[in-house]
Amino acid sequence: MKIGILALQGAFAEHEKMLGSLGAETFEIRQKHDLRRRFDGLIIPGGESTVQGKLLAELGMLDDVKAAIEGGLPTFGTCAGLLLMAKKIENDSRAYLKTMDITAVRNAYGRQLGSFSTMAAFGSLGDIPMTFIRAPYISEAGEGVEILSEVGGRIVAARQKNMLAAAFHPELTDNTTVHRYFIDMIKNPR
Ligand code: GLN
Repeated sequence: MKIGILALQGAFAEHEKMLGSLGAETFEIRQKHDLRRRFDGLIIPGGESTVQGKLLAELGMLDDVKAAIEGGLPTFGTCAGLLLMAKKIENDSRAYLKTMDITAVRNAYGRQLGSFSTMAAFGSLGDIPMTFIRAPYISEAGEGVEILSEVGGRIVAARQKNMLAAAFHPELTDNTTVHRYFIDMIKNPR
């Protein structure tokens, strides 16, 4: 199994490390031609959605990544990655890949609570540590979207077909539950 990690900006190295520890082979996607390689899954890391979105467009990669996801490529977006996949951002006129039927609120926890950690359930897999950094949450989820986690009554992890989105950063903890779930999505597609 080979997983491509979008490495234009943000916390991509931490995903590489975690997936490596789970025995998955990874490579960094930095340019359009990297997308021509054969790979089984895609990670869109946390960072700044506006910067990553701009770079994706400038490097001519936005349409290719969108087409790959729409073609069924298992894709996991964390934080900024969730915002890039969202079909709509409630408090921002921008939207990017628009592949996932969710509406997100950007920088949703305000300045005071910009970053925090908590424990909460991830699907049926029990409680896991969740680290939020200037995180979004999902304010609306379409019918085909399965809600996997909620914190304070707000949706923070969800799945739609081949897409997994988390508002938090599992790659910044030592808990591998979410990455193992994603590897399972690749092995057993819906
Ligand atoms: N606030 C960032 C954004 O709007 C997301 C933060 C993160 O990825 N940790 O893209």
